[in-house]
Formats: sequence, structure tokens, C-alpha cells
Amino acid sequence: MKSTRLRICTAKRRYLTQEQAQAAVERATIILRPYRCDRCRQFHLTSRTKGKRIARPVG
Ligand SMILES: [Zn+2]
Repeated sequence: MKSTRLRICTAKRRYLTQEQAQAAVERATIILRPYRCDRCRQFHLTSRTKGKRIARPVG
């Protein structure tokens, strides 16, 4: 759904470069993965890690 993807795009934080996205990943308390968005040509983070459910302990 285009509209859904657009909403996700606009709602999500955007990173100009993969390096910035990666830096945010390393600061996060959960496992995130940067991906290139084909709408804004920038990077977003997703918590979906294909099949793997790895969560860092919080606290
Ligand atoms: Zn986007």
C-alpha cells in the first residue's frame, strides 16, 4: 500500500546517511537495522530482523 508506506516514511525518523543510521542503531536498546527507503532516499530503522528475535536485556 503506497499510502501506508508513505505514512511510515513520514512518521519515522530519517537519517541522511547509513553511518548516521548505524550510529543510532548502536545507541538503541533494542536490535535495529537500517534500511534504505525508496520514497525519501534516506535511511530509516526497522526492528524487524528476519526471523531472528533477539532482544537486548533492558536496564
Ligand atoms: Zn522514507
